[in-house]
Formats: sequence, C-alpha cells, structure tokens
Amino acid sequence: MKTDTIIIGGGIAGLSTAYHLKNKDFLLLEKESEVGGICRSIKTDNGFYYDYTGHLLHIKTDYAKSLIKKLLKNNLKLISRNSSIYSNNTLTRYPFQANLYGLPKNIIEECIKGLVELKLKNFRSSPLNPHLSFYDFCLNTFGTGISKYFMIPYNEKLWQTNLKKLTTEWMGNYIPKPSLTEVIAGATTDNKKNIGYNATFYYPQKGGIQSLIDAIENEIPKTKIKTNCNIISIDISKNIVKTNYGEIQYKKIVSTIPLPELVKLIKKPASNVLNASRKLKWTSVLNINIGVQRENISDKHWIYFPEKKFSFYRVGFYHNFSKLLCPPRTSSMYIEISNLPIGQVNSQNIYKKVVNDLKIAKILKPSDKIISKLILHIPYAYVIYNKERNFALQTIQSFLRKNDIFTIGRYSKWNYSTMEEAILEGREIVKCLN
Ligand SMILES: Cc1cc2nc3c(=O)[nH]c(=O)nc-3n(C[C@H](O)[C@H](O)[C@H](O)COP(=O)(O)OP(=O)(O)OC[C@H]3O[C@@H](n4cnc5c(N)ncnc54)[C@H](O)[C@@H]3O)c2cc1C
Repeated sequence: MKTDTIIIGGGIAGLSTAYHLKNKDFLLLEKESEVGGICRSIKTDNGFYYDYTGHLLHIKTDYAKSLIKKLLKNNLKLISRNSSIYSNNTLTRYPFQANLYGLPKNIIEECIKGLVELKLKNFRSSPLNPHLSFYDFCLNTFGTGISKYFMIPYNEKLWQTNLKKLTTEWMGNYIPKPSLTEVIAGATTDNKKNIGYNATFYYPQKGGIQSLIDAIENEIPKTKIKTNCNIISIDISKNIVKTNYGEIQYKKIVSTIPLPELVKLIKKPASNVLNASRKLKWTSVLNINIGVQRENISDKHWIYFPEKKFSFYRVGFYHNFSKLLCPPRTSSMYIEISNLPIGQVNSQNIYKKVVNDLKIAKILKPSDKIISKLILHIPYAYVIYNKERNFALQTIQSFLRKNDIFTIGRYSKWNYSTMEEAILEGREIVKCLN
C-alpha cells in the first residue's frame, strides 16, 4: 500500500486532520474498533450516556465555533456554568479564590489574612516563567490560606506530583486571579457572577460528545479510515509503517498518539530520543460513571473536591448537561480519580470508597439505588509539566520533524490542550503537508 499521509490515531485531532485533508491522499490508522479516542461516549443498555468524563466544548475561536455548529446543526446548546467546591462540609461557588462566602468564619479570615499579608509584602502576581514552581506561584499569588484550602491540595490530587516540581506553563487562563477587592467582595456576599475561562460552554443536546465525533467521521470517506489497526513499527529510513494490514509506504506522518508510544514504534530511534522519552511523565484517570434512580441529585454541572479524605478530585453531573443523557426520573454522574500510571488499580475497592464518599458529601442518600455503573480508564490523561518536560520534548520533536513526522493533539504534542485546540491543530497541520 502507498499513501501521501498517514494519520496515526483517530481521536478528535486525527479526525480533524482527515476532515481538513479533504480529497487528498491519506490513510487514518486507529488501533481501536472505532474512532473518537477519549471523545467517545458509551450508551448503556438501560439508556445512560457516559463520556470519558464530561467533555464540554469551551470554544474561543470563530472558526471552531462555526465548524462545530455546522457539524452538529441543532444538536448543540450553550450552557452557563454552575459549579462548586466542596470543602469543610460546605459548597462554595467556583472559583474558590473569588467565592469564599459560606465557608466557616475562621477559614475565610485565614484566606483573607494570607492575601493581605502578601499584598503588604508587596508581592505581585508572579509572571509566568518556566523556572517558577506552581507551588511558589500559588503562595505568591493567593497567599497561604487560599493555597492551603484549595490551590495546593486540589492540584496535588489532580497532578499526583509534588507541586514544587511542577511548572506553571500549563496554566494559561485556567486559573482566575481576582484582585484583593474581588476576593473580599466574594467572601462577604454570595457573588453570582460567573468568572473564568469556562463560564459558559457548549454541549450536544443528544448523544454525548460522541455526536461530534460521529458528525466529523461522516464527512470522511470510510475507505480512508482503518480501525483495528495494529502498528508494528515505523521505519523512518524507508518511510514504511508496518501494520496488521501490511506495509504502508508514506511521505509524511501526522501522529496524534501519546508521544512515549510513538517513540516505542520507531525502529532504531536515536538514543537521546529514547532517553528523553523516558523523562515524560503523566497521570491516568479512573472514571467511574454512575446512574441513580432519583431525579436531580444535584443542580451543579460539576463539583471540585480538594480535601484528601475524598478519593476523587471532581464529580460531574451529566443530567445537567442534557436531560437526554439519562432515562426519565434518574440522574447520572462522572467521578474522576487521578493516579500515576503504575499498573493495575483495584477499581472495585475504589468504587466502594467512592460510593461511601459520595454519601459523606451528601450527593448520594443512603436510600439511593444505583441502577447503572460503568468504570472507564484513561491511561494518558494529564501530561505532567515537570522541569524536565521542555528539554525532553524539544529533543523528541526535533528528531521527529527531521523525519517527516508531525505531532498534534494533547498526547502527541504533549500538552494540556482541549478539543478545540485539537480541531484547530488538525486544520493547521494540513498546511505543512502540502
Ligand atoms: C479527564 C479529562 C477531561 C477532559 N475534559 C475536557 C473538556 O471538558 N473539554 C475539552 O475541550 N477537553 C477536555 N479534555 C481534553 C480532550 O479530551 C483532549 O484534548 C482531546 O480528546 C485529545 O484528542 P486527541 O485526538 O489528541 O487524543 P485521543 O483522544 O487520545 O486520540 C488518540 C487516538 O489514537 C489512538 N491510538 C493510540 N495508540 C495508537 C496506536 N499505536 N496505533 C493507532 N492508534 C492509536 C487511540 O485509540 C485514540 O483513538 C479532557 C481530558 C481528560 C483526560
């Protein structure tokens, strides 16, 4: 077989590349029996739709917005975020730092005192530089109290990493930085103003995020997608990808698969590339999805859990994205637990603790009947921005580029990116292939 471009991986980044290549000569190779990657949704026999944890469309660019609207037609709705933090037996509005109202008085005082002390020392919000640790950024930006009650424990849980070893390069606009006046206002009144990058978001009305995948896939000729494709090796000296379908001669490769997996497929990579690949670190996410025989178990879209006593860092509620994601008079949720990829986790034991923790947090009542359960595993979930990442990444990427392999998407570009970015990267990379 022969083709100009091989796209490896049929998640949203690979599908976007295929979509934008239009009639050009390419083949998309996907190891699973279906495309979609972690933007798939699963429909259970009793009518619940589960994503690989809620996948919400935070769209910043006109291009992505118009493309998604064109693809999903009427099946898209704009939603205003209603999310909270559960801490000290209290639900406060997100973001924590701008909404201390409702917390015990001594905690509010500690948070404000920490921020005032910081201002008196004349610290400014730290500029983002690769040498600043995320831990220092938190203390220098939010003071000791807000760091102690939210920033540090929540991020330790999410990243499973000592925050002194984590850089701030992933942050972008993800962490709102309210002024002291705004923090005080949010501590003394129940401020309903939504701030932050995800104050509103889009989500399909029907079918979960899978409906976006289905819509893109429908635009791509079936003959150009090879599912159940097992890539055995990539021979960069002969431009040949060896697969269970046979050998495929290519001119260029667009990879969207996790970078450490890509390096393993390359025949005889340079030794510095192998060493660099070993420096890449990431977390996995265990995603427990539950359907409950009770309506509206929560009115939130999602809730953050910074405290160590809870195994999960976030719980989201599908029924608030769309009522059509679960049968009438039921609710459904996703629970996210981060861990380092250190082999098998005992998901049944974790599940028991999760159910118990949901009762402690008063999300589940003791009388609640769980009528659906689906445990999913996301082996590559969050790329860890440790201090080695930059150098390792540059080493690998420059080797790949020299060998006509382009990388896009969250796990091949090795960054903290969204579905929108994956779509845009698919469009951009096509320009480099001509
Ligand atoms: C817990 C979590 C929550 C998230 N929530 C959001 C959200 O709310 N909004 C948002 O915009 N983004 C969210 N994201 C990010 C979003 O999921 C990613 O940006 C996006 O799905 C990345 O798509 P991709 O195509 O790059 O990767 P993937 O979806 O990982 O696709 C890669 C594909 O490659 C295939 N593959 C792997 N190895 C091989 C191989 N050897 N040969 C062939 N094929 C292979 C895989 O099966 C997969 O289909 C979230 C991510 C996580 C982990």
